[in-house]
Parts: sequence; C-alpha cells; structure tokens
Amino acid sequence: MEKYNAYYRGYKNSRGLIGATASVAWSSENDSTYELIAYRKEEKWGSKRQVDDDSTKRMDKKFASTFDNYDYINKHNRLIPNSPCPVLFGIRGNKKNDLINAKSMIISEEIKCWLMFETNQGTDDHLKKTTINKIQPYQSVIIEGLVIKNPSTIKGGHVFFTIKDSTGKIDCAAYEPTKNFRETIRELRTGDKIEVYGGVRKNPLTINLEKINIKNLEKQIEKIENPICQKCGKHMKSKGVNQGYKCIKCGTISNKPIFEEKIRYLKTGFYEVPVCARRHLSKPLKRIIQP
Ligand SMILES: [Zn+2]
Repeated sequence: MEKYNAYYRGYKNSRGLIGATASVAWSSENDSTYELIAYRKEEKWGSKRQVDDDSTKRMDKKFASTFDNYDYINKHNRLIPNSPCPVLFGIRGNKKNDLINAKSMIISEEIKCWLMFETNQGTDDHLKKTTINKIQPYQSVIIEGLVIKNPSTIKGGHVFFTIKDSTGKIDCAAYEPTKNFRETIRELRTGDKIEVYGGVRKNPLTINLEKINIKNLEKQIEKIENPICQKCGKHMKSKGVNQGYKCIKCGTISNKPIFEEKIRYLKTGFYEVPVCARRHLSKPLKRIIQP
C-alpha cells in the first residue's frame, strides 16, 4: 500500500486491511462470479431481517445460474447474513442480469439500495493442489489419496478418517455442522481412492472437508460365516483370532472362512457439504457440473 501511495487506515490488529487489499489486488482472470448485495434502511440495522423463504426458493428454482441460495434439507436461507451488518441479503451467481431479475423476486423489507460485486466466491480460488508432505496449517488444499483408516464418529457428531498419498498421511474431518455430508463420509472405506478439498486445521493437522471426489471404490469383502467341513458338512469352530478353524467332529483344519462382497451404497463422483455449511469461496458442484 505504501508502494502504491494508497490511503488507508487499519483498525485493531489491521487484519481487515489485509483482506481489503487482497480483494483489490485480486484478479478475476481464472474464474469469477457476481454477488448482488441489497442493503437495509439505517433504522433497521441490528434488527431481525425480513426476507421471505418461499420467494427465495422460487427464485432459486427459476435462476439456475445462481447458487447457495437456500438449503432445502436444513431449511436455511443462505441469502441472509448472520452479523448485525447493513446487508439485507446477497444473491450469488454467474450472470449479472439474472441477479438483477432474481432480486426482484425476493419478498423482503424495504431495500435502501443495491450493488453488484465481481468476486471469487464459489470459485475454489482458495484451494491449491498439493501433496500431504507439503501441507501447512491454515492452507486450503486439494489432495488425492487412499483411505487408510475407516471413518469413525466422535462425541459431538464429528466424523474422522485418514488418507495417505506417496508422501505421507493426514486426518480428514467432516464436522457436525456439515450435517448430511457426514452420511456420505461414513460410507468411505479403506482402499477407496478419493480427492479431498478443504482447509487445514493446525492442531492436530487435519483437513476440514468442503467436498470430496470419489474416484474409485475399493471392493469390500467381509467374512460372513466360518468354513464348512467337507466331510461332515458342519460349520467349523474358530481356534482363536487369526488361528484358523477346526471341525470339532473329525478334526479337519481350514483357514478359509466364507466371504461375501459387501454392497457399496456410495457412487463415484463429487459430494459437497450442504449449502448451510458452505464456505463462501467453495465452488458449488452446480458450477463444476454445469459451469
Ligand atoms: Zn469334519
């Protein structure tokens, strides 16, 4: 900012300046989207926002070029911010003109004025493809790897599993606020080849998942019953963990139980956290599948 003779003032730890400067310096050449922001009248600031959910859903269905409008599963209107700021709502999308028409479909308290911004929201601009050994805390990364530890759910509903690539291994997490996304994550199994997208938490080093691309599902074989004795036609008894089986009638020994391939309910492809848990920069699948 000194170099370019910019006028500026920082508040508190001046982190706002970093964000503001980065946004001015940002280039839209790779990808960009638009956000139409509607502002409240000053006397309404801090009070509960009046934005109608049904009109938001109608708008969402009408304009396919908009995204992250409404979470139908978790019943969350994503146009409305949480902070007591002067913003009434923001509609994000790929096409400027659609946003202007979309705004006129929203039933709400009186809008004081609106502005259109070109932004990197919904572009995955924050993510960098890398390998596990190069991961640093607070980065946002794309990592391809194999699941080496099945998902487990801890108290609070957070789901964790571990992946590896040729350079190392790292834990991945789908936290409770990612809601129904965790049902997909719980179906992952050792050997599945996946690409994970997310921000890196420092302690312990964990990838906080924003979306995954399942590239290959490993066959899952499970033991369904003990082997049957060829002579007696009866099930053999286990001699203990990893010690094989023995027929108690004739003493025949076997180490081959009966296996069956498990049905996988997952399919390959992309899965993302629901709209209510999506980070502003995450590219929605809607933009990946039909850009
Ligand atoms: Zn036998």
